[in-house]
Amino acid sequence: MSEAAILELDGLRKEYLDVVAVCDVSLAIPRGEIYGLIGPNGAGKTTLLSMAATTLEPTAGHVRLDGGELWDDPVRARRQIGFMPDFFQVTRELTVTDFLSTFALAHGLRGQALRDRVAEVVALVGLQAKAEEKCKGLSRGMVQRLGLGRAIIHKPALLLLDEPASGLDPLARKVLFDTLRAIHRDGSTIVISSHILSELSDLCTFVGIMHEGEFLECGRTREVIQKLLPRRRMELHVLAESLTAAQAFLEQTDAVNALVEVDGSLRFEFEGTDEHLADLHATLAREGIRIVTLAESATSLHEAYFSLAEGRPARD
Ligand code: ATP
Repeated sequence: MSEAAILELDGLRKEYLDVVAVCDVSLAIPRGEIYGLIGPNGAGKTTLLSMAATTLEPTAGHVRLDGGELWDDPVRARRQIGFMPDFFQVTRELTVTDFLSTFALAHGLRGQALRDRVAEVVALVGLQAKAEEKCKGLSRGMVQRLGLGRAIIHKPALLLLDEPASGLDPLARKVLFDTLRAIHRDGSTIVISSHILSELSDLCTFVGIMHEGEFLECGRTREVIQKLLPRRRMELHVLAESLTAAQAFLEQTDAVNALVEVDGSLRFEFEGTDEHLADLHATLAREGIRIVTLAESATSLHEAYFSLAEGRPARD
């Protein structure tokens, strides 16, 4: 096991009758990272996370947490793991504080320590204004944050989140991801699943791309994206006064291809590393071009992911 890995999957497999949901996966999740598990419906994300969270027994293979076999002592493992499943129930008639208190109690907290931790978690997930309201009055985004609060109540070293952002609007997703960043800064390793690579590419330091129970790619987010997209699709937004100059400059730049102007923005393919992109940014600024934003197009990540998945022969 790698020194730095908090969680290691070794030949992990799950069969449901004739379906192989997770197919002999070996993978190390580095400690202290935010690991994105990306894959379409049926890729095996829920199955894999459930096995790592001790809620589903593998057909074969090993899950190791901090080097110890998870399934040798699942109760001990659960003290170090927080799990937020894709679907979970809240007790509609309990207040937010009482709901979280029941889980704090189950994890052995009592008295003032319990009250302090519940208040801390309520604040961390941004539910102070709802602390004494019943769960049934919460919006979907608030329920997701409450589920996150439940998962972190015992300060787990490893947090496993199954599609926590599904169904959230962009603002609720941003709030959720900002909360995850705060939890990560507090020292937790986070594994989070999603259908959408572009949704997680800003949040995750590592990604693994799953398809039909197997990993197609995994590694540092930047490296995986560069591998999927040797030509990155960029969008440059400049002040109107700089548009002509920016267009003329990009037309002469070797690494730039397929330049088009759409609604006052310049879209182009860029062949190069982050360093080359930083150089381009600096050169544009030196040329007096007034940049509003220079960003990678999220749709292109989406497309790259689908082309990767579609390029695979379907399993029987
Ligand atoms: P989604 O994004 O839709 O949640 P997923 O990536 O989480 O999908 P899983 O739910 O792990 O994928 O499913 C992986 C495969 O295992 C699918 O083919 C699914 O139909 C199958 N599967 C999952 N649970 C069961 C079950 N309890 N019984 C039989 N087959 C199952």
